[in-house]
Amino acid sequence: MRVAIAGIVHETNTYCKQPTFANEFYQLRGKRMLETRGQESDVGGAIDTCERLGIEPVPLLYAAAQPSGTIESATYDAFKQEILDGLVSNGDIDGVMLCLHGAGVVEGIQDLEGDLARAVRVQMGEAVPVVASFDLHGNITQDMADALDGVFACHHYPHIDLHERAAEAVALIQRMLEENFRPVTHVSSAPMLIPFATTFIGAGKAKLAQILLAEEEQGVIDVSWFHGFPYTDIVHVGTSVAVTTEGDREQARRIGETLVEGLWADRETFRARSLSADEAVVEARREAEKTTRPVIIHETSDNCGGGAPGDGTHLLRAMLEAKLDNACFGFLVDPEVAGLCHEAGVGARLTVSLGGKYDDLHGAPLELTGYVKSLHDGRVTMRAMFKGSPLNLGPMARLVVDGMDVIVASRRSQTFDIEPFLAVGIDVMKYDYVALKSSAHFRAGFQELAGAIVTADPPGLTTLKLEVFPREHAPGPLWPVD
Ligand SMILES: [Zn+2]
Repeated sequence: MRVAIAGIVHETNTYCKQPTFANEFYQLRGKRMLETRGQESDVGGAIDTCERLGIEPVPLLYAAAQPSGTIESATYDAFKQEILDGLVSNGDIDGVMLCLHGAGVVEGIQDLEGDLARAVRVQMGEAVPVVASFDLHGNITQDMADALDGVFACHHYPHIDLHERAAEAVALIQRMLEENFRPVTHVSSAPMLIPFATTFIGAGKAKLAQILLAEEEQGVIDVSWFHGFPYTDIVHVGTSVAVTTEGDREQARRIGETLVEGLWADRETFRARSLSADEAVVEARREAEKTTRPVIIHETSDNCGGGAPGDGTHLLRAMLEAKLDNACFGFLVDPEVAGLCHEAGVGARLTVSLGGKYDDLHGAPLELTGYVKSLHDGRVTMRAMFKGSPLNLGPMARLVVDGMDVIVASRRSQTFDIEPFLAVGIDVMKYDYVALKSSAHFRAGFQELAGAIVTADPPGLTTLKLEVFPREHAPGPLWPVD
């Protein structure tokens, strides 16, 4: 049995001012995709599962970029064509596994995944199984699901189970071929936007537990709760449940509709609390009095993992003004300042204009004088979410400013785990305050070690205040913005 593996993964924030081009995609082709073996990612899970089940993987193309603006059409067209060509030129293919996100938007195409899945389906014909794994932040449609034989979104946010869902998707191909049946997927949607809601605590955790119970029913292959990605202006933005059954469409519809009614009924539990940077610092101080462990302050509104620049200065400014003792910040994205620190060298003192260069929304640049404590090339191996995967943050520097350790990186990423801190010699357990930019993925690496977690939501492209984003394409009123 031979299964083709391909993917285009992008979470598109249509409110970003710049489009996304091919050079921003991390691209693995052919045999190089096999290097993801053992990584806890969608593609790594797909490769591992093929090999475990005795399936020959036929790796075509895996292209993934940091969340950012709308994808340039020529970029998408080239990736799509490369995948379609690969399906023809690689001999007999028994099934296709697509690694997707679900919130991809291309110039002129609001539904990247639907477009790609349909093209693959047309090329392979009705008889060949085509399945896909997704990120739970996908804005999914029935149209997308109809082109596929199975829809498998990660269940957790942080996404610690991408490889497990990819494994289920690949296993379904084998089952379909051996047992000769045709699954169906029904997508039920609610007119609601969930502000980033982790499944590690609170309302998200409780709701996920309820939803997963539905997977126990006889005949159900998968139940995927798509939280949706709210930072996009498209017609199918929103929250959905996709239920894949062994062929009973009515069963899939019944389960999906019931779960979506439950999500709607409980919508107020997802309403987010939004603190300014200054308010978050005050709250962090209160929390620090109650614990000997570090208090994590996460700047959710400047999350590269949702399309924000990562160079925002609101939280760092508030922390410096409050003169927080024994604090570190990991990290701001500013290649210019990281470069200056590398030129100056360890031990140098220099004055820099840090951050705030992308736009005015994320705060003004901070004029700071600091001491270069250490430098790093920025290449780390992830240890929590995406465990085992490489991450390249570009040249990094640890600047000490008024006693506070401020890490500067060169490439956009949110902070997932303690690796960026360790890289520049920081043991976060020795700090009272640890600041970072992420919305929920950081929890996979920090929740266990934190004394408390405080959310800062100053202005930014991934703010929890969803009402600030104009919506030309929304299908109608959406909770909680209308
Ligand atoms: Zn996601």
